[in-house]
Amino acid sequence: MRMDDTICALSTPQGMGAIAMIRISGSDTFPILEKTFKAFSPRHNPSEAKPYSLVFGKMVDGETIVDEVMVGIFKGPHSYTGEDVAEISCHGSVYIQEQIIRLLLKNGCRIADPGEYTMRAFTAGKMDLSQAEAVADLIESESKAAHQVAMQQMRGGFSEEIKGLRTELINFASLIELELDFGEEDVEFADRTQLSELLLRIKSVISRLLESFDTGNVIKNGVPVAIVGAPNAGKSTLLNALLNEEKAIVTDVAGTTRDAIEDEISLGGVRFRFIDTAGIRETEDLVESIGIKKTFEKIEQSRIVMYLFNAQPFDSAQGDNFEKQELIRTEIAQLKEKTKGKTLLVLANKMDLIEDTTLLEKLGDVENLIPISALQKRGLKELETRLTSEIDLGALNSNQTIVTNARHFSALQQSLEDILRVEQGMENNISGDFLAMDIREALKHLGSIIGEVETDRDILGNIFGKFCIGK
Ligand code: GDP
Repeated sequence: MRMDDTICALSTPQGMGAIAMIRISGSDTFPILEKTFKAFSPRHNPSEAKPYSLVFGKMVDGETIVDEVMVGIFKGPHSYTGEDVAEISCHGSVYIQEQIIRLLLKNGCRIADPGEYTMRAFTAGKMDLSQAEAVADLIESESKAAHQVAMQQMRGGFSEEIKGLRTELINFASLIELELDFGEEDVEFADRTQLSELLLRIKSVISRLLESFDTGNVIKNGVPVAIVGAPNAGKSTLLNALLNEEKAIVTDVAGTTRDAIEDEISLGGVRFRFIDTAGIRETEDLVESIGIKKTFEKIEQSRIVMYLFNAQPFDSAQGDNFEKQELIRTEIAQLKEKTKGKTLLVLANKMDLIEDTTLLEKLGDVENLIPISALQKRGLKELETRLTSEIDLGALNSNQTIVTNARHFSALQQSLEDILRVEQGMENNISGDFLAMDIREALKHLGSIIGEVETDRDILGNIFGKFCIGK
């Protein structure tokens, strides 16, 4: 990737809109604009225009006017990329967007690679690597919690924590290396007790960060919830009822438009992803059908399992149906076995059809039993409360750093290993140069999170390649 040329790209979504925005960045931004843009007031020509101003004018290709536009002017180094930047807001026709981009290319721009603006911002030292990654997360955030975590990371919360640890370690590493310079003299500049304390502290911070990944994952990717139940138990009805409620909330907010929500809802700031399973009772033979591989795979992948059953057989007013009751009990028991370490919610559905609930009350020994009517939307609030209470967002609410990125997680794991090696080395009284080596490794791994050590081109390509073009 060349970094010294001038790039352009559409930064708003592909397709027609009221307005589209095309961004230019690089040293030739203003010379290229001089050739393609005429301000309506001559003293506003881009090179002379005040930075951080908007200039009204037209994009021209020779004598042809392509569009009337507003151009935002940013002069490096005080811009997103650190370079000269212009943001052309044009009318949102796809044709106009294409014509303007063509015009810019003809006059010396190159089309930006995905994430190249942010990559340039990183290279210019405008942000560190974890902040740059947070920009992508922010763009993708679909829930309050995901937004909050990405925002905190983008603003440098996580980086500060990592930098703090690194600074302390660097101090020690240099003291130990100083000892090495004195070779035979057997001096100790680096107080070993203090180093042990520091290692303990670093270990506890890294462990907390590693633990937060579980929450981070939930926040970023949502909580997978499998819905299990016999055909006609009411699974689709329940799903629709949950989704409709969400849609109603979403459309309440003026001006929000959203694509049809398929199987995700946002509760308490967290996305829950519902996975409808084929049901576990395709035949009368419950035990056999419960073995349906696919259903179990889905249960395996989920964090919460909702077992839904038609509660009618438990209505004493309709005559006891022992066989069906037994089937449900067995099913619950089977699922309990299969969902160890997960949460199993047992939903007694179609409560609107039940007159006498005494029998159902006897199911009281079943944990997490929630009576509902999917059709009449009864009991859904209780269900939602139960779902949200499953997710511990304590760290989020107390504003602690939450790791959401697998790359960061793995770097933290490696640095923890390095720290453990340093500790062990101290216990075994190994020589200073080995200690220093392990500390350097820990520094390297911690540094890789924020990009403070030289980062592999492939890794950078991987990180920025996931961005959209235009960011
Ligand atoms: P699925 O096969 O588990 O997805 O079940 P459906 O959601 O398709 O529901 C099967 C039938 O049960 C439909 O006719 C629904 O209208 C009905 N049903 C679902 N939930 C309820 C409920 O709470 N009360 C009543 N009375 N009928 C329900």
